[in-house]
Parts: sequence; structure tokens; C-alpha cells
Amino acid sequence: MPYDPSPQSLRGLMETYWGPHGWRTPSRLPDTPAVQRAISAGVMFEEPWTTNHDDLVERARRAAAVISLDEAGDAFLASLTSRRLDLRSALGSYAVARLLPSHAFEELPGSGMCLTCGLRPGEQTVDVNILSFERFKWGGVRRDDIGYVAFDLEQFARAPRLTPTGADIDISRRLIEVLRNSDRKATSTSILPELRMVPGNKDERGTLLEILGVCGIVETPDHRGYAQSYVPAGQRAQRPVDTAYPACWWTSEHGVNTDNLALFLPQTAQ
Ligand SMILES: [Zn+2]
Repeated sequence: MPYDPSPQSLRGLMETYWGPHGWRTPSRLPDTPAVQRAISAGVMFEEPWTTNHDDLVERARRAAAVISLDEAGDAFLASLTSRRLDLRSALGSYAVARLLPSHAFEELPGSGMCLTCGLRPGEQTVDVNILSFERFKWGGVRRDDIGYVAFDLEQFARAPRLTPTGADIDISRRLIEVLRNSDRKATSTSILPELRMVPGNKDERGTLLEILGVCGIVETPDHRGYAQSYVPAGQRAQRPVDTAYPACWWTSEHGVNTDNLALFLPQTAQ
């Protein structure tokens, strides 16, 4: 059943985790009419996921397998003027999951996490309400966390969709033009003020750049996105700045990978 992403339905979700001073960390869900409404609307959940490594990997793979490149790209484009950040998020999760191999847990030595996907072994609880909040507020912040990716793609299957407009495609082309031709040396964070053609705030634009990163649209020769092959957790452990891999390594000198742009956002590449 589709969820309802209207502001009225999202209010309980937003109020639970965000206040005038930023993050709120409730120990349990507030029992308010707004939260009840968010649950009925399908954007909050009564129970967390109880899951494990193998289950999350398979859920991410299964959810990605039923999504097409066109669908994910269209959702991203349609998010630009609408600020439907839930639709924007899907392209990033799809890029991460589409080539994720089926695999058993094998520890990255000394890290406690899987060397392929970065998940921990054993049973784990995923607080899907926090993930839902991050998804609607910023378009997701745990870009390559397979728990988030699985959740995001399963939710995308129930998301009311929008069709990209001429205005969306125009914004995407201007965005790519700046990333391709910025004349000063900029990083993935210092370039954000130049991306004001995208409606929204700085945090939303930062997430947007991270999504272009996992798509390999902004990447570097030494730090590739996921367009051609899945990037194992061990290869993305180091990050020079607090931005998701591989956007954290990108500078304006690297420009835009035209092949990956044509793969994920063909309407922008034309
Ligand atoms: Zn794994």
C-alpha cells in the first residue's frame, strides 16, 4: 500500500526526531495524535526490524532487482523542484544495491564488520523510524549502510511517484554544468553554495552530492562510485572529509563522469 508523504502525515515523524535545537532522541515513540497519524499514513512504524546480515543483504538485493534504472533516475529528477527527498534517496540506494553481490559475512580484519558490505554479524535491531526520518528530511544520511539501503528501496516500492518536469531537467543540467566546470578548486563541501539552483538547504544539497557520488557521477580515478562494480567496505573505510564515499574524495578538478551520468541520468546527459 502506498504511503502518504504529505506534510500533515509527516509531522509526527518530524516532531519525534527534530526540534528547534536539532536532534531529539526519544527512548520510545511519543503517544500523540500526530504520531498515530504518521503510522496510519505508512511513514512511521510500530516495531523496529529484527534482522541480521544475510537478511539485510538479501532484502537490499531483492528490492533493487525490481527497480529499473529509468525509474530511479526519474525519481531523482522529480525530487529537484518538488523536494520529495524520499524520491531523491532511492537513486543512491539503488546505485549501491544494484551490483551488491550475495555473500556470507567475512570480517574485515580487526573491524568487526563485513569486508564486503560493512554490516555487523549476528542478529540486530534496525530502528526504521529514524531511517524514515532521515529519508524524508535529507534524502538519507547513511548512504552505503545496507540496512538503510534495504529500508529505502522497500519504501520506494510504496512511494507515490512523480514524473520529472522540464524544470527538473533544467535544474539537473545546470547542476551538472557547475560540477563539470567550476573554475575554482572546490571540494564536495565547499562547492555546495554554488548548487543553489537546487531548491532546499545546504544539508539537502550535501546529500544530493553524496547520491551523485555513489552513482559514480562525481568520483575520482582512485575512488570510484558503484556504477561499474560494487565497492567493498574495506575500500571505502578511509574518508578525508565527513562526506559519504566517494564524494568525500572528489574535487572540482575531477569534474563529472559522463558515462555514469548517461547511465543514471540520461535526460541530463543529452
Ligand atoms: Zn556483508
